[in-house]
Amino acid sequence: MDSKHWLATTLRKILRNEKYMGDALLQKTVTTDFLTKKRVANKGLAPQYYVEDDHEAIIPKDLFLRVQEEMARRASLETNVGRCRLFSSRYALSNTVFCAHCGEVFQRTQWTHPNGKKFVWRCISRLRKKRSAIDCPARTLNEAELHAVVLKAVNEVYAKQDNFIPQLKANVEKALMNSNSPEIEAIDEKIAVMEAEIIKRSKTRQNCDELGDEIIKLREERYKLQLDDANKEGLKEKIAELHKFLDGQSAEVHEYDDSLVRRLIETITVYDDHFKVLFKSGIEVEVAA
Ligand SMILES: [Zn+2]
Repeated sequence: MDSKHWLATTLRKILRNEKYMGDALLQKTVTTDFLTKKRVANKGLAPQYYVEDDHEAIIPKDLFLRVQEEMARRASLETNVGRCRLFSSRYALSNTVFCAHCGEVFQRTQWTHPNGKKFVWRCISRLRKKRSAIDCPARTLNEAELHAVVLKAVNEVYAKQDNFIPQLKANVEKALMNSNSPEIEAIDEKIAVMEAEIIKRSKTRQNCDELGDEIIKLREERYKLQLDDANKEGLKEKIAELHKFLDGQSAEVHEYDDSLVRRLIETITVYDDHFKVLFKSGIEVEVAA
């Protein structure tokens, strides 16, 4: 295992571990023998409960949630041919262009012509035709064509920003309004009561398993709500980024640049006769092929 891969694996483990978010395990060990009082490490013998913010966070909570969001996004990009895709940020358009026929991603590939090399983007199901059963009719795109689509979409938003700004404002308001914090608070209250009960019961050595399971279930529910909020928080930033771009622009963009995609574009879906360009801010623009 090379060091880069090792780092990725370790980081993944660390980031999935809530301890790194400042949550300590309340029940790291469990008493197995009440006579000898010998304590052994809890390896799934008893449910583990967490006490939140028990010690200082090693990484900030919002960063942790952002990473979780990114990990979930990447996991959702796994191919339906059962292979794990390599994540390359070499090209801004990698993992951005999707096929309307089969839902797969488009990949950059090199064609050699008698008069030189040429880069095209093709649906991955077609590239792997020999290995997978999917026979996708998606067309092949010249890279120049794809770059032109990005420019057209960005310039459309630039030219019609007065029409788009109300939608952006609505998106921000929606993200602000639908915060899960009341639900999270309610869950916190429930958990606090249950944790107190668990501590009480454990002193009299009563069974806490059921209560523990319930706490874990509540924590999972709470985590999903937090993740959802982190997504909304991310959306606000993405909308601000589009505003910043529009404000800094004094004319239409004439030259393709990878940073345009990285800053502004979430996905491009390839149809036979048009493209749907979804901006990170939630705006969608259609471009004719
Ligand atoms: Zn396809």
